[in-house]
Amino acid sequence: MSMVATAVQAVHARIQAACAEAGRDPATVQLLAVSKTQPADLIRAAYAAGQRAFGESYVQEALAKQAALDDLAIEWHYIGPLQRKKTRAVAEHFAWIHSIDRLELAERLSWQRPEHLPPLQVCVQVNVGGEASKRGVPPEAAIALAREVAGLPRLQLRGFMTIPPPSLDPATQRGYFHVLAELLRQARTEGLRLDTLSMGMSQDLESAIAEGATIIRVGTAIFGARRG
Ligand SMILES: *Cc1c(COP(=O)(O)O)cnc(C)c1O
Repeated sequence: MSMVATAVQAVHARIQAACAEAGRDPATVQLLAVSKTQPADLIRAAYAAGQRAFGESYVQEALAKQAALDDLAIEWHYIGPLQRKKTRAVAEHFAWIHSIDRLELAERLSWQRPEHLPPLQVCVQVNVGGEASKRGVPPEAAIALAREVAGLPRLQLRGFMTIPPPSLDPATQRGYFHVLAELLRQARTEGLRLDTLSMGMSQDLESAIAEGATIIRVGTAIFGARRG
């Protein structure tokens, strides 16, 4: 078995254990393999191990890998910061985007989403730590943005995404993820039909699952250190 296949299995074992601890069904947690900076042949190895959803953060790099892997039935997720001039590429080449942080981007993606594709699945990115270095709307602004995005015709709003400040303390990790989970609950109370919490990475996926993550985004624990 390839190293990547072994690593994918190890992450599934962590998901199982965290779900057992939290009393959750592991089928409610989707693993997104974050392949940014990693070569196409490692994506192919993960695919051979059964992985189907891959996350990328740089548009040009992602398009090159998509072309090299177009014989595979991969579901591509865009998780990086998005520039205005790159929205068309995302609208045409991805199934999901997790990093919507302003209405203008969502509007462009909705106009540009080709009619022959299903609606682009989207999450609003929330900056739960209030860090200047991170993208995302503040928690207080998240539901208002979600309401506007939910009204766009070629997008389907699914929920919220966050990248909290790095911490090795599980209680601190859980505190940030709890903020996102509460936002989802509140948005549903207000009538938005959402089902997704995109939260948890290699270092903190157990805490995210404990707080209700439905998509965990895992790079290093699958592919090793990032390249370049
Ligand atoms: C790189 C990245 C990840 C993966 O982080 P790891 O710590 O390598 O698991 C997850 N989410 C986003 C948005 C990323 O940019």
